[in-house]
Amino acid sequence: MKHLFSNEGQRALAAVLTLKPLLAFDFDGTLAPIVARPDDARVSAAVSHRLSQLAHWRPVAIVTGRKVADVAPRLGFEPAYIVGSHGAEDPQLAPSVAHEAAMASARTYIATHAAALEDAGVTIEDKGNSMALHYRLARDREKAQQCIASTIAHMGPGLHTFGGKFVVNLVAEHAPNKGDAVQRLVARSQSGAALFVGDDVNDEAVFEIAPDHWLTVRIGRDTPGSRAQFFLDSHAEMAHLLQLLIDLRPS
Ligand SMILES: [Mg+2]
Repeated sequence: MKHLFSNEGQRALAAVLTLKPLLAFDFDGTLAPIVARPDDARVSAAVSHRLSQLAHWRPVAIVTGRKVADVAPRLGFEPAYIVGSHGAEDPQLAPSVAHEAAMASARTYIATHAAALEDAGVTIEDKGNSMALHYRLARDREKAQQCIASTIAHMGPGLHTFGGKFVVNLVAEHAPNKGDAVQRLVARSQSGAALFVGDDVNDEAVFEIAPDHWLTVRIGRDTPGSRAQFFLDSHAEMAHLLQLLIDLRPS
């Protein structure tokens, strides 16, 4: 993987901008720094100002693990689309009855184990279309992880779990992931391609399904096995990337 600001990366960037792309971004760790308390996460003025400029040119989408209602006020601008819960919450799609039933059973199951999880330092977050078991703030992260693993090992069917940065996520089995979401938004916005930037395991779903003419970027230099085409070193390079998009966009 090459740095996006390499010559090759800049050529790929200029090329995707000629295709009327959807501009899609993850939130935590991508547009906003990862912070100890998720409630403190905000997009910087430098980033939100540039995103709002770009939103006048092409549709901007935020595709996040958070709830839509949680992320919207943290952006400082209004994107064309927000999809939450790792792809499972799309405000323009009717919810699936089967997925809602699976999440209801997950909610009940986790509630019966809440005391043990909280004792181990796990914070439970119910996002409606997904649940997150956070252990970033646990005093003993290994113990917290073990507690999560033994809890979800006995969970009923119809659910899918996957890890992230100090978190284990729970969604309905076969719920749309971020790859499904970005694909759907490209079609909905009649875009000719997508530019997508993300930093975590759940963003790989986009990198995996991206056709060659899309541009995919993973935040973080050392991500063995990532399917993204390019990388940036950290979210701190986002303002520079957005300025490049503004400067390179065809008039
Ligand atoms: Mg992220």
